[in-house]
Amino acid sequence: MSETPETALVLFSGGQDSATCLASALSRYARVETVGFDYGQRHRVELACRDTFRANLAAAFPAWGARLGPDHLLDARVLKSLGETAMTEDIAIDMQANGLPTTFVPGRNLLFFTLAGALAMRRGASVLVGGMCETDFSGYPDCRAVTLKAQERTLQLGLESEIEIEAPLMYIDKAGTWALAESLGGQVLVDLVTEDTHTCYLGDRTHRHPWGYGCGTCPACELRSNGWTRWQAAR
Ligand code: ZN
Repeated sequence: MSETPETALVLFSGGQDSATCLASALSRYARVETVGFDYGQRHRVELACRDTFRANLAAAFPAWGARLGPDHLLDARVLKSLGETAMTEDIAIDMQANGLPTTFVPGRNLLFFTLAGALAMRRGASVLVGGMCETDFSGYPDCRAVTLKAQERTLQLGLESEIEIEAPLMYIDKAGTWALAESLGGQVLVDLVTEDTHTCYLGDRTHRHPWGYGCGTCPACELRSNGWTRWQAAR
């Protein structure tokens, strides 16, 4: 398959960040496909949100819907077999002695980008878009710009391709992510992100807050909630 510069492949988890990245890619690229990963995550609700968000996004923004290509769900469950994390096992969300939280899944984004790069070769995509952010997160080393830049170079060399990695949220905080959604698709997109994406580490879809569903107290809910509050205050 020949390489088409206008095709982007978005790493789409079903969370707020990657959903906003999907809208960003659809506003800029002629064709956009999505890829998600089953890595044995405890809470399958995030995967379920992917289809809902894609369908509702395409319906609400027909021009984007026309550009939105197929979704790909890849099996990355080997990550679960590698060891205990709070994302794959029933263990507490806590800080470890090495300074990384138990929600860190070692190798996750490294593997995801490798698999996404291979898929992009097959699909003729020249850009990988991910929602990684080093401003507002828990210090995950595989979310830092320097890591992504090094991995981009590795993929270019290893795939003999001009493939690029793009991380539109790298230097903005969660308030900025809400603001970006509004600038891309107005209140309609904000409402879709609020209703149809999932962030909570505990998989809670029973409590509805102004910023969406979640337990309200886990680190992911706190980030999403605090970002919403700061964004609302700044509007
Ligand atoms: Zn939560």
